[in-house]
Amino acid sequence: MQYDVIVIGSGPGGYVAAIRCAQLGLKTACIEKYATYGGTCLNVGCIPSKALLDSSEHYYNASHAFKTHGINLDNLSVDMAQMMKRKTEVVAKNTSGISFLFKKNKIDGFQGIGSFKDKNTISIKKADGSIEEITGKNIIIATGSKPSSLPFLKIDKKRIITSTEALTLTEVPKHLILIGGGVIGLELGSVYSRLGAKVSVIEFMDSIIPTMDRGLGKELQKVLQKQGMEFYLNHKVTGATVKGKEVTVTFDAPNGDKKELKGDYCLVAVGRIAYTDGLGLENIGLTVEERGRKVTVNDHLETSVKGVYAIGDVITGAMLAHKAEDEGTLVAESIVGQKPHINYNLIPGVVYTWPEVAAVGQTEEQLKAAGVKYKSGSFPFRASGRAVASGDMDGFVKVLADADTDEILGVHIIGPRAADMIAEAVCAMEFRASAEDVSRMSHAHPTYTEAFREACLAATDNRPIHI
Ligand code: FAD
Ligand code: NAD
Repeated sequence: MQYDVIVIGSGPGGYVAAIRCAQLGLKTACIEKYATYGGTCLNVGCIPSKALLDSSEHYYNASHAFKTHGINLDNLSVDMAQMMKRKTEVVAKNTSGISFLFKKNKIDGFQGIGSFKDKNTISIKKADGSIEEITGKNIIIATGSKPSSLPFLKIDKKRIITSTEALTLTEVPKHLILIGGGVIGLELGSVYSRLGAKVSVIEFMDSIIPTMDRGLGKELQKVLQKQGMEFYLNHKVTGATVKGKEVTVTFDAPNGDKKELKGDYCLVAVGRIAYTDGLGLENIGLTVEERGRKVTVNDHLETSVKGVYAIGDVITGAMLAHKAEDEGTLVAESIVGQKPHINYNLIPGVVYTWPEVAAVGQTEEQLKAAGVKYKSGSFPFRASGRAVASGDMDGFVKVLADADTDEILGVHIIGPRAADMIAEAVCAMEFRASAEDVSRMSHAHPTYTEAFREACLAATDNRPIHI
């Protein structure tokens, strides 16, 4: 078969690229090695983790917050089998949705491992061992990433696990030890903490979510501690061993003291690494970076081989589903000669703990390092009528604006529905709004978004109304 475009990988990068190519009239194929489409995100990432976060949040609220609302429940318990069954159904709904969209857009789907024979020929190794070859004028590599580990750790997938296994546990751990206080650790740690597990987080850096604005990490740690999690910051893991059902994790304190924790599960969440195994990049003269194993691309996301592009987790930048999607669209539109653009500074980042954490633009640390003069305005959710009504009063909105022009340079939120609130900040910043612009826009009352307006008022000339 001869295609205009062959996409290898059907995650959010790959499937969006395929759909956009088809919309633009290109004859498109997408190869996926797994039985279902959707990649990490739909199968073992964003979607199942959010399904479990929602289920565990319901349980946590029922056991901790309902009483204050005047709702009494007796004999509350967790049915793990049902919780996991629901998660599996949520995943299935989403992955079958991609099959539907492929059919609707007349995209040919192939199941198997795709690898380069030459720059236009992809061989597909099927589950039964047979090989099929297809050719394409353009190839998009969208093979994503897999969990990384530490050189001295053996992940046995039973007691020392990655996010993939953490999404399918059949019991609530008694004591879950997390290596890494980043996004995966804190989201999946929250799931099991809410269901009753003791959760200990060992983080190498001096802050959790260390790449986000430091104020967010500090506040999130405070709230998660209140929920029962314990943190070992600035601690360096040195090993983990399994004996029967017990995991022992050893680590060094900042002063060199040797410590150990015993638990029944250890989740290793120290980042992800680009995935190009079996792709045959060597057959077209491409190599990957030494460290992150990423494929190198230019500004148009084209590799050094003309007509071969790469997008998503397999290339540089944030490992986020929406970043991969935007890049899929960019490559499809570039192939037909359009001039699309992605503003990488305005890709929001979200952590789906409760309260949620969401940010876009520059952090205070980045602005200081770059020597940019800025103003900062904050508004706490405890002063928001909506937050008081719902009982979600932890957190704040912080707006950073240029000291001279008042242009918004960064927005950092920890609080209820921050994941949804950040969209307004992205929109404002995409149109280069000043903090005053936002503070003069009507915001429905009572909503959490009023806190963004108030933080803009605070940033403009320190005149929030409600504090
Ligand atoms: P992937 O989604 O990894 O897809 C790549 C696909 O390529 C896979 O299906 C793989 O099987 C296939 N493939 C690989 N090699 C071949 C080959 N040779 N032939 C055929 N097929 C191949 N991001 C967010 O934005 N929000 C979130 O809430 C979020 N939550 C997450 C939670 C967890 C637990 C994890 C692990 C990740 C989460 N992420 C989240 C990150 C997000 O999942 C990734 O950034 C995103 O999936 C990357 O998309 P992609 O298309 O580049 O690659
Ligand atoms: P991460 O980079 O977010 O966090 C890893 C953490 O591990 C960091 O805080 C790091 O300092 C720490 N760490 C590294 N080595 C360590 C060591 N030896 N000992 C202790 N701590 C150590 O990575 P992740 O949480 O594994 O997530 C992987 C990717 O998946 C991220 O890039 C993220 O963007 C994506 N993801 C996104 C979401 C979301 O958008 N909500 C959710 C889950 C995953």
